[in-house]
Amino acid sequence: MTESDVDSSCIVCGDRGRVFLEREDLCLVRSPACGLEWQDPMPTEEELDALYDATYFERWGSVDDPSENPVRTMKRITYGVVLDAIRQHVTGGALLDVGCALGYLVEAALDRDFDALGLDRNTHAVRWAAERLGERVSAGELDATAFPGRRFDAVTLTDVLEHVPDPGELLARCRERLTASGVLALLLPNAGSATRRLFGNHWPHYVAEHLYHFRPDNLSRYLGQHGFEVLEARTGFRKAFTGQYLGTYAARVGSFVPPGIDRLGALPIRIPTGEMLVIARRRA
Ligand SMILES: [Zn+2]
Repeated sequence: MTESDVDSSCIVCGDRGRVFLEREDLCLVRSPACGLEWQDPMPTEEELDALYDATYFERWGSVDDPSENPVRTMKRITYGVVLDAIRQHVTGGALLDVGCALGYLVEAALDRDFDALGLDRNTHAVRWAAERLGERVSAGELDATAFPGRRFDAVTLTDVLEHVPDPGELLARCRERLTASGVLALLLPNAGSATRRLFGNHWPHYVAEHLYHFRPDNLSRYLGQHGFEVLEARTGFRKAFTGQYLGTYAARVGSFVPPGIDRLGALPIRIPTGEMLVIARRRA
């Protein structure tokens, strides 16, 4: 493979991307100046819609017996860490989870006395979430029709920013919905992480549905360009898993999980999966 320039330019610094990964399903370029990575060409809207069909969440075992499945347990531990980090900067109040999927962050936020709402473009996911959360979850985009007139003390984007074709537009919409001192919490893959260095181009986050790969430095710069100031960045964030889930997951996708880990059973463990948690405040 030869490195070559492409025509698309970096959304953070304007530099031209250079190809560093070419696979059948994926071509990734990197900005030499700031390190941002993105897909070139970007998938079409039809290709993106096909990725997020009814089976998208089923593939991860998320919808089996939603009342007490291991994914729910794991997610609620992970989101508890996110919410506790938010709590360092806002005392509570209204929270909107953008890309709420099955509603597990909304549930964890309600447990912590946030007035929590969730939004997701995946109608299948929202239907499952609404069985438990009713009108607290809604299907659609973060536009004027979503919870009209509501402003929030916190907006969360967990496993979301890397999926959207125009991250700047999403950040602007989040900013509009935040109160003057509101905070945005982002959980997303960190292309500057140790797991990225360890796996190289075989990093498990290099998949068709991840359109952008940020690092702490270029994300901070990008947030600055969109009216946010970073308060805190945890660059080696650890998500919660159970051995039982990892055993199933490894069998399903043939990933890097160590053999025999399912012997840990239902005991949750927290593993660095190459993600970062960033808390940013809306600037005046
Ligand atoms: Zn750049």
